Amino acid sequence: MPDQPFAEQTVVITGGGTGIGRAAALSFAELGARTVIITGRRKERLAEVAALHEAIVPVGADVTTEAGAQAVADAVGERGGVLDVLVHNAGIFRFSPLAALDAASARDVVETNVLGPLLLTGHLLPLLRSPGGQLVLVSSRGGHNPGPDSSVYSASKAAVHSFTRSWAAELAPRGIRVNAVAPGFVRTEVYAANGLGPEQVEGLFAGVTATVPLGRIGEPEDVAQWITRLADPANELVTGQIITVDGGLDIAAR
Ligand code: NAP
Repeated sequence: MPDQPFAEQTVVITGGGTGIGRAAALSFAELGARTVIITGRRKERLAEVAALHEAIVPVGADVTTEAGAQAVADAVGERGGVLDVLVHNAGIFRFSPLAALDAASARDVVETNVLGPLLLTGHLLPLLRSPGGQLVLVSSRGGHNPGPDSSVYSASKAAVHSFTRSWAAELAPRGIRVNAVAPGFVRTEVYAANGLGPEQVEGLFAGVTATVPLGRIGEPEDVAQWITRLADPANELVTGQIITVDGGLDIAAR
């Protein structure tokens, strides 16, 4: 990758205030992007990340709403109106054992993980550079290797896998590439957001680590570097691909 592959580019990253989105925003900024618009609902978290690099612009927006999608489109419009890279990273995980089905929780997962990227892609497509635009979706290993007690989340990420392939085919004639990363376990706040305490999170990570062939769980930067690689304009022939970043868990599960 050249030193500044995203020079003069405008990038949007949903969920850029924390975790994988935060790491991706900093990477795009360090790799030369002129503007990195980060979105999320918690404005204070967005402001913390924006304070780390002058290219990063915080935009409060809920991915589940049309108003949120329009706010992001307006922010791109105010900065020249051409978008080079769109990273659909915002997502939530909720346990969903069938024996304790919670329809409201299931709706939240589907609206955030499935409706969210769909709405935002629809609003931003007219602004996406053509040819040359890039979409990167942050999916999950659960999208192709679902486990128990999380069928709703896994189904939502299977939908993200499907978006990746459908949109790649649909947008190829416009010269727009669409790819995804599918992380395994990554050390972010997503587990605490499910009500797990610090000791429970560390216990979960320790248990998982013992099963990872490469011997550790992921850090946000492990995933961020694949987001930027997939969005690198030099990768002209890569589209419709889903890169699993899981330390080899998929191989172990065979
Ligand atoms: P995280 O730190 O909890 O990040 C999730 C981000 O999504 C937050 O910044 C959150 O910001 C944003 N978000 C959630 N709902 C939103 C909404 N309605 N509108 C706008 N933004 C919203 O966790 P993460 O691990 O970095 O997650 C990033 C992505 O990686 C997700 O798609 C997740 O499914 C995927 N993933 C993570 C793992 C893992 O082990 N960590 C594994 C596989 C896949 P606000 O709450 O401020 O809105």
